[in-house]
Amino acid sequence: MKLSEIPVILQEIGVSPVKKLGQNFLHDQNLARWIVDQANLTAEDYVVEIGPGLGALTELILDKGARVLALEKDTRLANFLRARLSHRRLELRNVDALDFDVRDLYCEGRVKLIGNLPYNISSPLLTKFVDYPSPISLWLFTLQKEVAARISAAPSTHDYGALTLRVQLHHRVELLRTISPTVFIPQPEVASALVSISPRNPLELPACDDQLLISLVRSSFSQRRKQLAKTLGTHAIDWERAAARLGFDTKARAEELSLEQWIGLANEIAPMSTGAAQSFGQERFPVVDELDRILRYAYRVQVHGDNLRHRAVHMLIFNQAGEVYLQKRARWKDRHPLRWDSSAGGHVCAAEGYDEAARRELQEELGIEVPLEKVLKLPASLKTDQEFIWLNRANVQNQLKPNRNEIEVGGFFTPKIVDGWMAARPEDFTPACMECWRAAREKSAINPAA
Ligand code: SAM
Repeated sequence: MKLSEIPVILQEIGVSPVKKLGQNFLHDQNLARWIVDQANLTAEDYVVEIGPGLGALTELILDKGARVLALEKDTRLANFLRARLSHRRLELRNVDALDFDVRDLYCEGRVKLIGNLPYNISSPLLTKFVDYPSPISLWLFTLQKEVAARISAAPSTHDYGALTLRVQLHHRVELLRTISPTVFIPQPEVASALVSISPRNPLELPACDDQLLISLVRSSFSQRRKQLAKTLGTHAIDWERAAARLGFDTKARAEELSLEQWIGLANEIAPMSTGAAQSFGQERFPVVDELDRILRYAYRVQVHGDNLRHRAVHMLIFNQAGEVYLQKRARWKDRHPLRWDSSAGGHVCAAEGYDEAARRELQEELGIEVPLEKVLKLPASLKTDQEFIWLNRANVQNQLKPNRNEIEVGGFFTPKIVDGWMAARPEDFTPACMECWRAAREKSAINPAA
């Protein structure tokens, strides 16, 4: 949209730009094209645009063949854009993007997020939409230059802080270019910058307890000038040894540690399992026949290596809202690492029954002890990795305590989202989880309304 057209349209639709809504409209069409080009869009993409305004980017995104969901808070702008860009691939919602449920996006294939964000709420928007785990594969944001500098900062710089580490823990951030206030109407008081954020390969960095890391970082950066040995003194760390092992000075301050060193520090305090401690080779399972009768016992490697029939349990845990907890399997698991799975589950070991195994797994993985209801039994097949599976369900009222050594990450999802997610991205799930879910749905064991 040309510079001269914007004031005319705004007047026509009765909008005088509201500072509180960050209403600065992009009029530089070359820049708009350049921004959209950075997303490498194709017809395969589902783009969520935050704050489409008068549609400077929206139109160009549609030109790339992508489907677009545009979230605009201002009703007058939403109505204008709906009329101006009526398009079968565009869904325009007159909503506050802060109220949008990001989990719905798991039901789409490849999701990219684009937005010239309203400045006054760019931090909450950023924190919400860049949360982990996420169905989004690319974030392309225009932000205040200062926020862009903070999230892309390197250690030992002024901009490096808690927000930097929080975003960079699971994402790579690239500052693409700075943007002058003159490309917007009205002109904002500050310069902007375009950043591209993409998910890290989960194996790029060692696993750690994210919550612990974030709380360490927060408390250390709140006293930025203090030496870490003092701010983190309450944690039982052999400081000399940790500093030598992780390669930082014993007198270092928060801003001097790289992300890798912060992860190392969190792991000094709460070491993570690498799977080695799981003594895979030592576990023995009952080997069963086609009627699930025990034939003998064998070590785990043999059971899996020879594809022998064996036993397992899966649990679906629902919260009071009827949402089911799904877990992403830990990275060290020998089968289906980093795939999404039922709430909890595992093998039935030698000398235990299905029910005992179910109770043990719930305790080990989610730290809970709740009455379980049997749902159904699945026969051993290729789809279940030759496991007979007893599926159980339970409702919980209290918080789960996911064991970070077993579970990479987890979350509650509505059954409707799980249905859509499995249809759109089956590769995200273990085959057994898909089988359990399908069978439970068929048996109407999951609230159909949820
Ligand atoms: N994308 C347009 C452009 O580049 O010209 C407009 C960008 S303008 C910086 C920000 C837009 O976000 C405005 O249209 C504003 O009404 C909208 N907005 C502000 N707060 C919002 C919110 N919470 N949810 C959705 N949209 C919002």
